[in-house]
Amino acid sequence: MDVIFDIDGTLANAKHRLHFINDNAHWTTSGGKPPRPNWEAFLADDQVAKDTPIPQTWSILSTMLEFPSDYRVIFITGRKESTRRMTYSWLTEPTCDHRGCAALVWKKQSLYQGKTVGPILYMRSESDRRPSDVVKESLLFRARADGFHPDLAFEDRKEDAAMWRRNGLLCCQVAEGNYLAPHSCVPSFLINVTLFLRVNLTFT
Ligand SMILES: [Mg+2]
Repeated sequence: MDVIFDIDGTLANAKHRLHFINDNAHWTTSGGKPPRPNWEAFLADDQVAKDTPIPQTWSILSTMLEFPSDYRVIFITGRKESTRRMTYSWLTEPTCDHRGCAALVWKKQSLYQGKTVGPILYMRSESDRRPSDVVKESLLFRARADGFHPDLAFEDRKEDAAMWRRNGLLCCQVAEGNYLAPHSCVPSFLINVTLFLRVNLTFT
């Protein structure tokens, strides 16, 4: 069986950096554009490096990796290609029990196969600013073209879980994943007014 794992919020505890996308006080206003979630800060290397593994999902992942003839695991993430090296390191460095198990499995398989074996990562291209579910759907199509036929996905984000299900996968949603709900119903002009008042009150 081919299995998809999301990373942020599914394997990586990203709670410490969620305020960049779900608290408009931390949104970006660069380029004179309306405030928007600060995905750049949310996905910055120094922030992501602080993530801790989510033990329950890592336990499932490690178990699946032990049986490569039964499970082919791929990672489909909304992270950008520029974070590939850091993400690869985060997944494979044996810095704790959970990640250590997976790292050991990949190392053993590498020795057995005589070539480097590690996580297969599908990531967002640098210029792609589409919503996560749209990006991941494209990556799913690419994975299928590469010969993977996923039946199961582990995911935290609500919209992304719905997308996996629309595409026929059984999705284990590991968190509520309703990250933008508190602000998604707020018109952008109200956010602009709020930010304007905040800035002006700060300087008066
Ligand atoms: Mg996620």
